[in-house]
Amino acid sequence: MSLVAARELSKTYAGGDIPVLALRGADFEIEAGSFAAFVGPSGSGKSTLLNLVGCLDRPTSGSLSVADTDVTQLGREQRARFRGEHIGFIFQDFNLLPVLSAFENVELPLMMMRGWSAKRRRVRVEEILESVELGELAYKRPSELSGGQKQRVAVARALVTKPKLVLADEPTANLDRETALGVINLMKRMRDEAGSTFVFSTHDPKVMSVAELVFTLEDGRLREGGGTQ
Ligand code: ADP
Ligand code: MG
Repeated sequence: MSLVAARELSKTYAGGDIPVLALRGADFEIEAGSFAAFVGPSGSGKSTLLNLVGCLDRPTSGSLSVADTDVTQLGREQRARFRGEHIGFIFQDFNLLPVLSAFENVELPLMMMRGWSAKRRRVRVEEILESVELGELAYKRPSELSGGQKQRVAVARALVTKPKLVLADEPTANLDRETALGVINLMKRMRDEAGSTFVFSTHDPKVMSVAELVFTLEDGRLREGGGTQ
């Protein structure tokens, strides 16, 4: 059974004057342990797709299963609980809280969960910060960190709860090429170590080349494989 499976998945935004067909009948499967990328130009539907898989939004039609759960059937609160249990998120603009240290930012998801004592949280946060090579910078605030370091904090925050699935929407868009590749390769190493499945989006061919499974989006239509032929 795939970790993520979509059939005829569609999303239409109907709020404006003209409905926007952002995703048109996407079929795909992602096995557990994958390192997968959705690739396409701006406006092609990457965020729409990741938001559906991440249970941040609901499809207009089609089926979507994540971790053996038909997520199209979940209500708002059930989706929130499902996200907290199974999914970690990494964002383009890092989304770190500026008043908190790297340690506190990474600790935050654990504070939202039951059953984590302060001592157990500390052990886990230190462990994950070490594995993304940020042990030395644990007490720095985001403003004292470089872009690449901030994104490594965000990778640690996404992984601290040991989610089955980590979703990263253009995680390297605000980084220079070399730093971008460093962050993607770190994500791949964390996939190897933690066993979480990673799914990210990008429009950068260099970044996309690190993925093991590539889906291309064009105007809301999806096909497997990279390139633009
Ligand atoms: P990408 O992430 O690849 O840039 P998006 O998924 O953000 O693409 O957008 C796909 C299409 O859906 C675009 O035409 C965009 O303008 C439109 N769109 C995205 N979000 C909304 C929304 N909340 N309301 C209306 N249209 C939207
Ligand atoms: Mg986007």
